[in-house]
Amino acid sequence: MRLSIKLLASAAALFFIAVLLAPMPTFHEPLSTVVEAADGSLLGARVAADGQWRFPAPDSVPDKYTTALINYEDRWFRWHPGINPVAIVRALKDNIHAGEIVSGGSTLTMQVARMSRHNPARTYSGKIIEMLSALKLELFRSKKTILKLYAANAPFGGNTVGLEAAAWRYTGRSPWQMTWAEAAAFAVLPNAPSLVYPGKNSLRFKQKRDALLEALCRRGIIDSLTYSLALEEPLPDPAGTMPSLAPHLVSWFTLTHPGERIKTTIDPYLQKNITDIINFHQRELENNLIFNSAAIVVRVDDGAVLAYVGNCTLPDSTGDYCRDVDIIRSVRSTGSILKPFLYAGLVSSGEMLPNELISDIPTRFQGFRPENADFSYRGAIPAGDALARSLNIPAVRMLQRFTEERFLRLLSRVGFTSFNKPASYYGLSLILGGGEASLWELAGAYSSMARVEKQCNEKATYTSRDWHMPLLTTESQAGLAAADPDPPLSAPAIWFTYEALLRVNRPETETGWQYFGNAPEVAWKTGTSFGFRDAWAIGTTPSEVIAVWSGNADGEGRPGLTGITASAPTLFDILRTRPHTGWFHQPGEEMTMVKLCSQSGMRAGPYCTDTRDEWIPVKGLKSNACPYHTIVHLDRTEKYRVNMSCVNPGEIVNKPWFILPPAMEYYYKQRNPAYQTLPPYKPGCNDDREVSAMEFIYPPPDAKIFIPRGFTGELTEMLPEIAHRRRGAIVYWHLDNNYLGMTQGIHQISLRAPEGDHVLTVTDDEGFTVSRRFRIVSSSER
Ligand SMILES: [Zn+2]
Repeated sequence: MRLSIKLLASAAALFFIAVLLAPMPTFHEPLSTVVEAADGSLLGARVAADGQWRFPAPDSVPDKYTTALINYEDRWFRWHPGINPVAIVRALKDNIHAGEIVSGGSTLTMQVARMSRHNPARTYSGKIIEMLSALKLELFRSKKTILKLYAANAPFGGNTVGLEAAAWRYTGRSPWQMTWAEAAAFAVLPNAPSLVYPGKNSLRFKQKRDALLEALCRRGIIDSLTYSLALEEPLPDPAGTMPSLAPHLVSWFTLTHPGERIKTTIDPYLQKNITDIINFHQRELENNLIFNSAAIVVRVDDGAVLAYVGNCTLPDSTGDYCRDVDIIRSVRSTGSILKPFLYAGLVSSGEMLPNELISDIPTRFQGFRPENADFSYRGAIPAGDALARSLNIPAVRMLQRFTEERFLRLLSRVGFTSFNKPASYYGLSLILGGGEASLWELAGAYSSMARVEKQCNEKATYTSRDWHMPLLTTESQAGLAAADPDPPLSAPAIWFTYEALLRVNRPETETGWQYFGNAPEVAWKTGTSFGFRDAWAIGTTPSEVIAVWSGNADGEGRPGLTGITASAPTLFDILRTRPHTGWFHQPGEEMTMVKLCSQSGMRAGPYCTDTRDEWIPVKGLKSNACPYHTIVHLDRTEKYRVNMSCVNPGEIVNKPWFILPPAMEYYYKQRNPAYQTLPPYKPGCNDDREVSAMEFIYPPPDAKIFIPRGFTGELTEMLPEIAHRRRGAIVYWHLDNNYLGMTQGIHQISLRAPEGDHVLTVTDDEGFTVSRRFRIVSSSER
């Protein structure tokens, strides 16, 4: 008796050790990358590295499926310890009777163990290992976990593994939305997945499903009405395609997070809408051989990406249209799209007031001569208008004032990583598209700007933590840049930037204004890169930033490919689908009321005649006072300028006058009829020239000029130019004391000068003289 107890105890101990030594079922197969929308629906997925649709294990298994599965495979699953002795004995009897293994008597747990061993051929020894593994699994894992392992790894025919992949593939819906008929179909499928699957052996498949439905009804799990309706339901479809709402985003995650399940912030309905809008406009753009467009929508509050359309999704069977390229991550020439950051930078630092006059005259900078898009000059224009109209010359002047080094630092602080070359590489053309940025980082920087404004409105405070890139998942909220005590742009500066971008910046020569009509309040900016290669349009509302790009992914430019014609229509179509959210209000902090000169937009000086009280950023108090208003001395008729050489001091009328430098005046007065040029000197008065009458436009002071040689080796001509304040003035040109000629009206003269130093002298018909030194350099000196 004691011996048998000992024997029994030893046997039990041995058995227990065998269980412990048995392999623990684990799964290390490659997994599909699965990308979910914010509501948990599937945006898209990619097959695993081994070509299988095998989703990462879900958090739980739908109840209907669990019930159907247990009723079909293993009724006693919830009570047995991993093996079911009754079933084994029954299976053993069947097998002996048949002379081969026809029935496994397997529990679900044993099937999980078998799946983890890659479904080897059925043998008695294999069976024993499975039983021991199943016992071990039950010992260390919950029933729920075992069900999850089963649902995630069961074969569903073809290259479809796991319930979730099967549900999306065969029904196009989440397994959580399945009907009882579908639950029954998916419960019977893994039993013989190579013999029976959707589209194959349908009759046998339906018999198995219906038998299970009958059992569920008989056991009181479903009522008879549900049962009879379920019988009418067709079988799941043969393998369809996976949902593909955001193919470029799925590609991105397949690259960066292969085999993971990513829960994104994407709104699936918006994603679908914007894809449709992009595709709609793409069809039109295709007529002009423009084949690619992209759009991203970022929520201002937290930077969450609500839609990510990396490219249009129209057919591209040959791949010639590069529609696989994710434009959102591609760096492209920025055109004018960075101008708001420069404007905001200058206003933020207090160096420029929001509407102070910036000169807009033909100017040659460091070897390049920018032109405005309409090839005209305004002489001088308020900085805000220059931004609203996206004028190039004033933008280059602003960058010259801010400096390229500081602007590159600012770009990096607001989140751009693609401007990684030294300032000398970009030069002043940086502000006109000399550098490249991605739609991703642009959307990030623009939405951060809006976030600062919103924080300032709602909490009266903001920090540099408000500046961050868009976020695709809620987890990525962590890891934002550490707080920097000094935010890159101030809320007042951003406010004035939006003031400019809110204006109808309809280019005189372009269509596209109609898109502004019934759109909500939106601050928007377009950009067109050199050679018409990139068309940008970015709109900001207090709730969202929408960024759009159109062009050709391979970089081919197209005439007429501009931000306003190619991308703004898409932007405004998207805006029209979004809820109207009002507008920011003016920041209360960091602003102060000062007297501004109405004509120059600068702080009023002592002679400014027309002033108004306006809010400016506190830092703007250090900006220069208006230099354009000075006192001129007139005779009693106020028709002539005079001085003490010709009239008595008592007869002199002192009058404040708004005088722009000659080159600015020349263009300014053409567009501003109210501008009053200075009256001439009274005959007999010595002209003491307290105000210069003429000024060089080209060449700039001490210029080093490279003149290319023509085909025959001679130096080509250069074209110096001056502006004269007096209409009808005649000027005489001398180069190195040699007379060149005379001009009237437009003061340009073409000349050839050999390499070396030169002095160009210009004298007007009143004897006034200006001169300019310059040097002609050879190509080696350049
Ligand atoms: Zn003034």
